[in-house]
Amino acid sequence: MQNILRVHNLTVQVFNQSKPVSLVDDISFEIKKGSIFAVVGESGCGKTTLAFALTRLFSGAHNFSVQGKVYVNGEDILELSDEKIRTLRREQIRYVFQDPVQSFNPVKKIKKQVYDALNLNNKSDRTRKLRKIQDLLRKSGIENPDEVLESYPHQLSVGTLQRILIVMAIFPSPKILIADEPTSSVDATLRYRILDFLDEMRRTMGMSILLITHDLEIARRYAEDAAVMYAGRLVEIAPREKLFVQPLHPYTQLLMQYYFKTGDIDSTVTQSLSGSLPSPMYLPKGCTFQNRCYKVRDDCKIEEPPLTEIDNERLVRCPYWK
Ligand code: SF4
Repeated sequence: MQNILRVHNLTVQVFNQSKPVSLVDDISFEIKKGSIFAVVGESGCGKTTLAFALTRLFSGAHNFSVQGKVYVNGEDILELSDEKIRTLRREQIRYVFQDPVQSFNPVKKIKKQVYDALNLNNKSDRTRKLRKIQDLLRKSGIENPDEVLESYPHQLSVGTLQRILIVMAIFPSPKILIADEPTSSVDATLRYRILDFLDEMRRTMGMSILLITHDLEIARRYAEDAAVMYAGRLVEIAPREKLFVQPLHPYTQLLMQYYFKTGDIDSTVTQSLSGSLPSPMYLPKGCTFQNRCYKVRDDCKIEEPPLTEIDNERLVRCPYWK
């Protein structure tokens, strides 16, 4: 299958008193056209920084530097002009942010905010497109779209606001949707309803989705391929069935072993792993997982292992995975 997104050696650094600190380090992966690729990892591992870098949301931030290549349809978007990247973000790569409440202006009605966000300034254009917006809202499970569009954000539930955000993101039929913890603030029933809707839209629109999540069950249910992130690095990439059935990296193994008892990566690591996620400012020499790894040996403290291909489909950052 053709790849829609190819990321090569992506590194994001922030300058702390002129010293570069890597928040995301040398990340490479590819997303197949029309598929869901999940990036999973505990809070603070760099998932959201990665997502921001992919859409150049750090542009203009003077103390950040982004290096590497991000190809969309063969074009490196890190090299595009500001105008082209804005067009790309409007039409081809859309983003759903984590916090639906903070994403809306509290003093404007939803309809006005939807029109502004989708650039529907022309009245006749609006009438035609309003039908599509209402239709998408209905498909997302909102039964009264007219009423919802005439409401202010505080009159709506978090779940409704999240679905409006998703509809705004998929309205232009983008090629890629970056969904950063799209259901972290809703209950389990609504979570799967929203994700089923996204999955249906992926199929009908032929869209690819980069799903950023700390919920392994979501990744297991919806993703075709998944990557595990730790301390700003990818430590394992594999098709879903391999990652969840036979994880190879010690970190992935521990996550899989305990996750389904706790239901959340952050609780899992608190309960099952000693030590803590190292700060990007104070990474140890060698493997970044060494302070928590049950297989650690002296060699692990000398050089950081590379992400190595195990077979045609999976990569692991640990020479002692067997
Ligand atoms: S390289 Fe060493 S410390 Fe790192 S995951 Fe492998 S065994 Fe563990």
